[in-house]
Amino acid sequence: MFCQVIVDLIHDRVAKPYTYCIPDGMHLDAGQRVEVPFGSRKLEGIVLSLLSEAPDGLMPEKIREVIGPLDDYPAVPAELMELAVDMARETHCPLAEMLRLMIPAEMRKGRIRARTERQFRLAVSEEKALAFIDQDRRKGKRSLIIRMMLDGKERSLREIRETVPNPEDALRKLISEGIVSERMAEVLRSPGSETDTSDHHFTLTSGQKEALEEILPALHGNQGAFLLHGVTGSGKTEVFMAAVRETLSLGKGAIILVPEIALTPQMVSWFRAKFGASAAVIHSRLSAGERYDEWRRIRRGEARLVIGARSAVFSPVSHLGLIVVDEEHESTYISDHRPRYDARDVAEKRCHREGATLILASATPSILSFARARRGDFTLLEMPERANHSHLPAVSLIDMRRELEEGNRSIFSRELKSAMRACIHHGEQMMLLMNRRGYHQFVSCRSCGTVIRCPHCDLSLTYHALPMGGRLKCHYCGYESLPPENCPSCGSRYIKFFGAGTQQVEDEVHKLFPGVRTVRMDYDTTSGKDGHQKALQPFRDGLAQVMIGTQMIAKGLDFPGVTLVGVIAADMTLNLPDYRSRERTFQLLTQVAGRAGRGQKSGRVIVQTYRPEDETLTYAARQDFRGFFEAEFLRRRHGLYPPFTVLSRVLIESEKDEIAEQAAEYLESEIRGLLLQHAEWQKKLLLINRSVPSVALLRGKNRRQILMKLLQGTESDEFIGAVTDLLEQTETRAEVRLEVNPVNMI
Ligand code: ADP
Ligand code: ZN
Ligand code: ZN
Repeated sequence: MFCQVIVDLIHDRVAKPYTYCIPDGMHLDAGQRVEVPFGSRKLEGIVLSLLSEAPDGLMPEKIREVIGPLDDYPAVPAELMELAVDMARETHCPLAEMLRLMIPAEMRKGRIRARTERQFRLAVSEEKALAFIDQDRRKGKRSLIIRMMLDGKERSLREIRETVPNPEDALRKLISEGIVSERMAEVLRSPGSETDTSDHHFTLTSGQKEALEEILPALHGNQGAFLLHGVTGSGKTEVFMAAVRETLSLGKGAIILVPEIALTPQMVSWFRAKFGASAAVIHSRLSAGERYDEWRRIRRGEARLVIGARSAVFSPVSHLGLIVVDEEHESTYISDHRPRYDARDVAEKRCHREGATLILASATPSILSFARARRGDFTLLEMPERANHSHLPAVSLIDMRRELEEGNRSIFSRELKSAMRACIHHGEQMMLLMNRRGYHQFVSCRSCGTVIRCPHCDLSLTYHALPMGGRLKCHYCGYESLPPENCPSCGSRYIKFFGAGTQQVEDEVHKLFPGVRTVRMDYDTTSGKDGHQKALQPFRDGLAQVMIGTQMIAKGLDFPGVTLVGVIAADMTLNLPDYRSRERTFQLLTQVAGRAGRGQKSGRVIVQTYRPEDETLTYAARQDFRGFFEAEFLRRRHGLYPPFTVLSRVLIESEKDEIAEQAAEYLESEIRGLLLQHAEWQKKLLLINRSVPSVALLRGKNRRQILMKLLQGTESDEFIGAVTDLLEQTETRAEVRLEVNPVNMI
């Protein structure tokens, strides 16, 4: 027997399967991890397929032997193997690299092993054990241990220690007397479970019922793809839960993808409480051991439901029945380089191949998904009303230019201030969105206008107030420095701080309402294990009345006590130089507005802007998704933006500017060369240009880009594939990577 092995080495020259011989008596399956000789080294690999004969042209005696399997089961099940092969082909990515997505990183290079513990149990009959206790006049540790084992169950050393301190000597004696037996057994490191605090049983709303009436038959019929568009608070979670329950009862598995686990704590604890040990939760803050063990619980079929972020879409769930992508509009679902994938597309592919149902859900679907639903690729399910009959909050746009004209220089408009006062007076809660962390956005010189920048990035530094005094920080590379006393270019002492961040908003709230407790939710306050939970807790307990945060507070939080939402500077996202800035602004505002008035009392939303006439803000204020979609769809059609086109760029970075420039020049000519040979690609190309990206220096690297805009279509996919191969084969001294519809264009 022979097998084809993909060795775990990412290099253009080894991007093909190698044939190995399987020694007699060794049993291997496709998908199994093996150790193989490779040159003078030993490498890990994955069996791609088994062959009964050596492939043509290979002399059997020249073929080297597999050293041995690394696990006793295929780590990559057949469905995922096929998926990896397809994705590797489509994105021109080496299969070895794609396969790395399919197993926990910790498993490679033997960095982690199953944990084993000593387990003890009675080795004699109950009668004999009781007789021993009778004879033991001292009734010492040995009797205690025997007593706790009378039920015949196995006990770990840890469990025994809970009842009998320092049991080692006593155990040793019991074992040598043949009364207790010992073995090593595997234990799973569990990331801990939660109990549901709000055990509710709702009568489903008519919206929920109608959605389920369409979804349930699909689960039974093994196919279906839905876009669930439900306004904020329409009770989408309840629909997922019913769908999951049905899936599990059919003996199938389910995957629920969320943008980021830490931001959806409520949903996770609901699912954990409802589905207990059959639910596995995968997130970046698990320890390596926990992640590996959760993965194995899934692989063995002990966990039939997986909740996780983007990469959980590759979970080895067998008999897959359902994949839910919650908040499907979030850009965290996209991995825009190596291995490139969009978790929504992967979910769709898996469902299609494995006969499962797909549900994409959002209150603000992405333009792409909604367009596809309209085209008929997904069945559109709409839930236009809130589950508990509360109304969507009223949103007002406040013109900050007027505030300034009329002498209000505070970061809060008069209207927001009075609404905040009323909210606090009534003992209610509020959320304030400020999509920028730190205290001041930037620092600049009053005399010459110089903005203080990061020496490693072409970006301004943000001022952070810290207990030991303020510091300037770069939000991209982490560089920190003390604020200068003099301007670095003209020496002037007129250094000023501009623009607000979350810290300043918090400060202003404390000044306006002394004694009112606040929580701040941003990257700085939520790091570390359970950082989000800890930061949220005072607000959840009702001790804090004000939550201030970046966009992370817009997502999924369900606090019925919130009656007011204030958006301090709506223009911040709108002004980003990206064709998606309107879509993102609409999503952010609609989502954050949706946090208000979810309980008994109605909610109010105040959005501060310097452009109240802006169309996107107006649609967001009316929470009119359809209106926004139509306008934006037209604009994309006219401007030739995705989904009508594919935007891709080759990003070139080097510490030396001239190396970046040379590489960019060379690659551009090579790409143009490809186009000259292929008229059919040329026809699809709307634009190709080489330029300096909006951020010319990032993390100490000088940057160049070759931007390409293509009409959607198979020829364009081929062209992108050819560019990928070209980059792979070209040796340059710069770092080069291809991005397709990148998440951001800085
Ligand atoms: P969404 O994700 O659509 O914004 P959620 O799933 O968070 O909405 O639900 C919003 C709120 O409505 C939650 O507090 C939930 O407990 C409640 N809810 C959901 N379904 C029902 C129902 N059928 N009847 C009453 N309340 C419900
Ligand atoms: Zn100056
Ligand atoms: Zn920097």
